[in-house]
Amino acid sequence: MNNNLKDKIRGIIFGAAIGDALGFGTEWISKQQVTEKYPNGLHDYNQITRYQKSKGMEGWFPGDWTDDTDQMLCILDSLLEKQEIDIRDIAAKIHHWAITDGMGMGRTVYTVVHTPGFVENPYQIAEKVWLDSGKQWAANGAVMRTSILGIWQYQDREKIKDNAEKVSRITHPDSRCLGSCVAVCLTISSILQGETDIDGVIAKITQIVEPYHPEFQEYFYKAAISLESLDLDEGLNPGEKDCVGYTMKTLGAGFWALRHGKSYQDGILRIIHEGGDADTNAAVAGALLGAKFGYSNIPSRWVEGLVYREELDAKIERLMAIMLRH
Ligand SMILES: [Mg+2]
Repeated sequence: MNNNLKDKIRGIIFGAAIGDALGFGTEWISKQQVTEKYPNGLHDYNQITRYQKSKGMEGWFPGDWTDDTDQMLCILDSLLEKQEIDIRDIAAKIHHWAITDGMGMGRTVYTVVHTPGFVENPYQIAEKVWLDSGKQWAANGAVMRTSILGIWQYQDREKIKDNAEKVSRITHPDSRCLGSCVAVCLTISSILQGETDIDGVIAKITQIVEPYHPEFQEYFYKAAISLESLDLDEGLNPGEKDCVGYTMKTLGAGFWALRHGKSYQDGILRIIHEGGDADTNAAVAGALLGAKFGYSNIPSRWVEGLVYREELDAKIERLMAIMLRH
């Protein structure tokens, strides 16, 4: 495995975790509120005071990531143990995380994992919850954790597509969620295979996911033209209907950053200052930016400030060692 590939793999995983940890500071507030809260902008973990851990209280610590990375690690830990995609094992790990920690968990994951029978039959339960929602629920809880599946078996596009769908279905069977996961994973795998023409990659990916749902075309178009057109804080301003946490918004944020971000830092900062589901949007954007620019181009203060940096580093080393043997 050459150093460039290693740098990109490390960039994807650290990129997602850092986007999540920094985006936590502007999650669930409007763009206007972001400006009020951070008049000089949010640039570092220690500016975030939300839910800070205090004596004897559970909470968040600057440089800690949230549910987005925790669930990505459920997939990564399963891969390290099983050395293959094991749906029941990933479901069990998500369930264990949800009942022992679960901080920041979204409505879909909460409902699915707390429905009896989830660990034994995750697909059946997730499908039931989705049907009960009137086939409406299409949240970003699957796309936020999926980037790791663009790394595993990255040379095999059919397997990537299959794995992304299978792991999404554990909690999110809506075709918009499946397509979001496939789009992110195939893009990551293309970059790992050495593609450097990002516009060309996105054009191909758009064609592949269009059949999943008509809205893919619309969101890829918005991601191409402007960040504002994605309206990432829609639902947090007076009179707007709630759509924060919609998978297509997060997908759009990720692809906007990949296409327009001048660097890892530039892309992440632009995304988190839009508000909305900022940690999740930045987790996906961070993975894509990390693939494009590599770990070596992520600001070192963000890497060093991660609370669980060493654990993450050790898992990535183990993953790369297993990939070499396969
Ligand atoms: Mg989160």
